[in-house]
Amino acid sequence: MTPIEQPHAMHYVRCAAVFKATGQRCAAIALLGKHTCARHGALSTGPKTPEGRQRCAEARTVHGRETTTMRMERSLASARLAVLESVGFGLGLMTGTRTRGRKPDRMGDAYPELQALYQKLVIERAKHSA
Ligand SMILES: [Zn+2]
Repeated sequence: MTPIEQPHAMHYVRCAAVFKATGQRCAAIALLGKHTCARHGALSTGPKTPEGRQRCAEARTVHGRETTTMRMERSLASARLAVLESVGFGLGLMTGTRTRGRKPDRMGDAYPELQALYQKLVIERAKHSA
């Protein structure tokens, strides 16, 4: 059995944009060779001048408000918090539940002098108890 043919049915690529407010897909007909409709960026040609293209390449942004330096600063800040928490629990200054989830990636870069001091203290305690 063959599927019923629809001779005049046309297949269009539909816009892949998602509305932030509703979470629903746009689904308007996309421009030829594009994945979005004109309202959702299909008419954009991107940066045109060499300076603009260079700026865009250097920024490495996902969107206008997120930059590599901002991401690195945030990563280091969460690593600092994790180091402080780790040392606080290690010294018995903090009690209760620890922060859930994986440890931040850059914990080695955060407060290296504090980490070295803590390591020394742990070694001293181990010597003292043994
Ligand atoms: Zn659209």
